[in-house]
Amino acid sequence: MSRSISSPNEYLDKPCERCGSKKRISRRWKETVQTFNGTATIDCSQIICTNKVCQAEFDKNLLEETEKRRALKVKMDENKAARKANSLLQANKARRSKSRI
Ligand SMILES: [Zn+2]
Repeated sequence: MSRSISSPNEYLDKPCERCGSKKRISRRWKETVQTFNGTATIDCSQIICTNKVCQAEFDKNLLEETEKRRALKVKMDENKAARKANSLLQANKARRSKSRI
C-alpha cells in the first residue's frame, strides 16, 4: 500500500489503527518528482502516532520489515544466480550428450 499523502488531514482524523491514539504530523517536506511535462512539487508529511510506545513498536517493526525484505532480495538474487548457473550446466550437459551421438 502506497502512502504518498497529499491530504494528511484525512489521515490525521483517523485514530491510530494499532492503539487508537491520536496521530500527529512529525515532519513535512516537499519533494520534487518527474512528471510528463517537467517536474512537480508535492507536499509530503510523515504522520506518527502520539503514543510513544506504539510508535516505537511501529518503528521497530518497520526496521525489521526493511531488513527482512533486504534479506529476501539477497536470497532471490542468489536463487537467480544459482538457476542461471544450473541452466548453463544443463545446456552444457545437453550439448555433451548430443555430441556423443
Ligand atoms: Zn498508535
